[in-house]
Amino acid sequence: MYDERLRESLPRVAERIAAAQARAGRGAPVTVVAVTKGHGVAAVLAALRAGLRDVGENRVQELVEKRGELAGSAQPVWHLIGHLQRNKVRRAITLFDRIHSIDSLRLAQELSAEAVRADLTVRGLVQVNVSGEATKGGFDRARALAQIAAVAALPALAVEGLMTMAPFAADEAVVRATFAATRALLERCAGEGIALQASELSMGMSGDYEIAIEEGSTMIRLGTILFGERVP
Ligand SMILES: *Cc1c(COP(=O)(O)O)cnc(C)c1O
Repeated sequence: MYDERLRESLPRVAERIAAAQARAGRGAPVTVVAVTKGHGVAAVLAALRAGLRDVGENRVQELVEKRGELAGSAQPVWHLIGHLQRNKVRRAITLFDRIHSIDSLRLAQELSAEAVRADLTVRGLVQVNVSGEATKGGFDRARALAQIAAVAALPALAVEGLMTMAPFAADEAVVRATFAATRALLERCAGEGIALQASELSMGMSGDYEIAIEEGSTMIRLGTILFGERVP
């Protein structure tokens, strides 16, 4: 069932990505992270069959389960996109390839310390909360620059860019302003000499990915539009 769904949804999404890039005059490649949370491992397998390489989960436990069910077959590139509790860091760092949700300095320090201990590099994005919405995690705008600098300076942690979420059910102007402010923050990092390992912008979900791409997103996290509604 997921195969059929992707056969319909993926070409449409690809078309819309291309159109959004054309409207904004942007050509940088956009990575589609297929968000399979709330769907079984069948969704991951269908995504891989459809040629998607990048898969996102927002909970460590669900990631563990799906990795286990895939044992022995090809694994996707796993993205952790949800909040990571500090007490789960040790267990989590070998499970994902990139974490989009480095949302506090303490979490960053924990990730760095465990990565040093495990002799590996954790790749991730700093999550910023430019809209100031209380329900959203991430560094607030006022202190973001200094905190991103502090995170980027930690050992064994490769900061590859920024991630954000637009306010839920906001109108288009607010969504667009959130994404534009995040891009501006990334540009300011470069201007201030904060050395990041890449310039990725993880912005955009099913409801707002076209606006995100117009505003410079390089990674969109798509669940519902690819796989249908989640079972809660
Ligand atoms: C669930 C989730 C998504 C995907 O949401 P859809 O609206 O289903 O595309 C993207 N990003 C994060 C952080 C999520 O938790």
